[in-house]
Amino acid sequence: MTADTTTIATEPTPEPSEAPELSPDPALRPDPAAGLPADDPSLTVCAPGTFDVLATAGSARAARLWTAHGPVDTPCFMPVGTYGAVKGMDPDELCSVGSQVILGNAYHLTHRPGSALVEQQGGLHRFMGWPRAILTDSGGYQVFSLRGLQKIDELGVDYRTHFDGSAHRMTPRSVLENQARLGSDICMILDHCPPGDADAATASAAVDRTTRWANEAAALRDEILAPGQLCFGIVQGGTDLALRRAHLEALAPLPFDGLALGGLSVGEPIPAMYATMAAVAPLMPEDRPRYVMGIGTPADLLAAVRAGVDMFDCVMPTRNARNAQLFTWHGRLNIRGARFRDDPGPVDPTCGCLTCRRFSRAYLRHLQRSRESLFGRLATLHNLYFFHQWVAVLRGALRRGDFDDAAARLNAVITRYYPAT
Ligand SMILES: [Zn+2]
Repeated sequence: MTADTTTIATEPTPEPSEAPELSPDPALRPDPAAGLPADDPSLTVCAPGTFDVLATAGSARAARLWTAHGPVDTPCFMPVGTYGAVKGMDPDELCSVGSQVILGNAYHLTHRPGSALVEQQGGLHRFMGWPRAILTDSGGYQVFSLRGLQKIDELGVDYRTHFDGSAHRMTPRSVLENQARLGSDICMILDHCPPGDADAATASAAVDRTTRWANEAAALRDEILAPGQLCFGIVQGGTDLALRRAHLEALAPLPFDGLALGGLSVGEPIPAMYATMAAVAPLMPEDRPRYVMGIGTPADLLAAVRAGVDMFDCVMPTRNARNAQLFTWHGRLNIRGARFRDDPGPVDPTCGCLTCRRFSRAYLRHLQRSRESLFGRLATLHNLYFFHQWVAVLRGALRRGDFDDAAARLNAVITRYYPAT
């Protein structure tokens, strides 16, 4: 997962009435909760790991991945629930906005409340009451971010937690063991993600280390993971395309159920990130899911889908919601703004979410200023609905065969309202 560097917009946001021509065609905006395979009891259940590409357009594709907790239609945005909760949302609400997979973090859950306790409680799905798929990050990214509190060697990493300073060791084996106890549907291997500004020697050493750890994880997965628990490898290499391709070649033959691109959105220039996705994603195995970790903005998601990426996650819709920033089809809106004080309209007149159907901007601004916890819940619900719709537009268009038109429409929204910063 990535640091969220988005700042709260302070400049006036264009009002919806100023840009009716950019309102997406209703036909391009399927309700993300409708038509998801998880809601279709007539589907023939397939073995976890089954991955069917259903439609393509250039490098972009729509597919279906089966997990032990049902099917996932891709492209798919995955909300982040680090501690086993997407902050403020209950599982029914997540299902209602169209969430198919949520992320947990094995570093956090291993230390709080502890993977053994989660296992004793019946696994993470039962513990948190979530019926659909769960992907867990290995926790390596968090440990490598503990500057001064970790020491890397060739077999693993010693670290002190940010919780209580206690000493622990993380290895390719330990991260799989913890994710096995949590009962994750999709487990991520331990990788070494260097900082975005790492020099070439550091980046190359991190790739070599990740390759060794990937080989170890591939050899251990059948011993440690339960049948039906999927395991994804992680390709590193920063924005060095030759290094990325070499690492992909090293990992592609290993028996992973999918491959991820790690080490993106970690401070590199946005054009370099897009160029890396566009160059590398199409080279990843076609018959397995492709996941870019820790992205992103609406523009990031469009770039990823165009490159042939199937899955992505980001804290942006949930974190920004709690900071009063709401995503709409007409740009970001900071609900703290004085102009919303007596505004009776919904956050986004074209949005079908529960928040927009029931509550006004004036009420949401009041809740936010009064620090009512209901604000965070309603704002998160709206932002997740927006992100799921954004991707559902592309998924639906791929399946219908008019991806280029849909991508152009979303690109028009990005150009006007969500320019890369
Ligand atoms: Zn809404």
